[in-house]
Amino acid sequence: MAENCQGRLVIISGPSGVGKSTLLAQVLKQSEVPLVMSVSATTRGPRPGERDGVDYHFLTEEDFAAKRSRGEFIECFEVFGKGHWYGTLADEVGPRLERGKWVVLEVDVKGAMAVTERYPEAITIFIGPDSMEELERRLRGRETEDEAAIQRRLGQAREELAAAKQYKYHVVNDDLDRAVGEICNILTNA
Ligand code: 5GP
Repeated sequence: MAENCQGRLVIISGPSGVGKSTLLAQVLKQSEVPLVMSVSATTRGPRPGERDGVDYHFLTEEDFAAKRSRGEFIECFEVFGKGHWYGTLADEVGPRLERGKWVVLEVDVKGAMAVTERYPEAITIFIGPDSMEELERRLRGRETEDEAAIQRRLGQAREELAAAKQYKYHVVNDDLDRAVGEICNILTNA
């Protein structure tokens, strides 16, 4: 990070289905620090209700590859094996840090590790479920994925949980209000 940067980078990871989006929406409303979400780019299609430029920058494979070859990503990975590409655009991060914002990245474990290499002072928070059974129940309840996708996400979740120890802070999302309060406290005191 540049020496004169006043903002902070906040990296949030956790298995798919753990409730990160709901948690983060509340944290953005309640936190005392000037948080902004970095909008990632992805080659996956939008889910019902998702908006381009708000939830993600939805890109074609060609556009994503072009940005990648121009070095426009801080990090990017193909998430879920043969699935889709996801990446953090440098433009979403640098200019806001320079304006003193606290930029929140919601990325997978590989993305988090790549970003912390470049920004070692980033605040890293891992959101976990209270159990794998609870996570599976939530993934099925979402009804947006077929069985193969659910199985892929559960496999990924097991790997992600094993990597949780590499994060500075750990929050269990067993109760929304409590978990939101815990994240706000972490940010205030970081
Ligand atoms: P979803 O398709 O459910 O929105 O996200 C799937 C996974 O991609 C999640 O684990 C999420 O954290 C990860 N992800 C979202 N944006 C990025 C990104 O910019 N970079 C990386 N490395 N992972 C991301």
